[in-house]
Amino acid sequence: RNFSDYHLSEEITRALGVLKYETPTEVQAEVIPRALGNQDLVVKSQTGSGKTAAYGVPVCEMIEWEEKKSQVLILTPTRELAVQVREDVTNIGRFKRLKAMAVYGKEPFSKQKEELKQKTHVVVGTPGRVMDHIERETLGLEKIKYLIIDEADEMLNMGFVDEVEKIIEQLPPNRVTMVFSATLPKDVENLCHKYMKDPVNIEI
Ligand code: AMP
Repeated sequence: RNFSDYHLSEEITRALGVLKYETPTEVQAEVIPRALGNQDLVVKSQTGSGKTAAYGVPVCEMIEWEEKKSQVLILTPTRELAVQVREDVTNIGRFKRLKAMAVYGKEPFSKQKEELKQKTHVVVGTPGRVMDHIERETLGLEKIKYLIIDEADEMLNMGFVDEVEKIIEQLPPNRVTMVFSATLPKDVENLCHKYMKDPVNIEI
């Protein structure tokens, strides 16, 4: 397997070179071509498998720079993961000049609100604060084409199911949804069944 198999743009290929990602990891080889084909995916994989780039590469490839409204929403259970994912996505999208932003609680809402007024291609955040931004109309969802739920099992364990469902219900129906989880307990499976279109299951 090779990143050149996916016919990625020069900008993304160059970024992978800077990151010294030479060969796709197993999860990347399973996810990248399917995500580029707009397939919904449920992916069982651990942290350390390269799962962030597995979704980061295809979404950065597909984003249209000119579009002013956010195109990708990534939900994470914790602020730490949100910050890490924002950094990884920024690195992958650097030569396309993609802007990714992390939104989470315990940071002033007003600061995030001002930042969200600028063009933000990718929003990464924890469910509670993402919901706040939606309700207060500081984050528009009408152009979201990709929803990624990272560490879905952790997110539901932390009691975020209501927020997650409320967020999903506000998203455009013609989107791609990818769920990543280390384990697939019943509540994660229920969520996938309720909100995804014929998802392909990938187990690493
Ligand atoms: P993750 O599972 O997303 O937390 O990634 C684990 C680590 O693997 C991170 O430090 C990544 O920078 C690194 N990584 C991801 N993909 C690759 C790759 N294809 N080649 C080498 N390192 C990678």
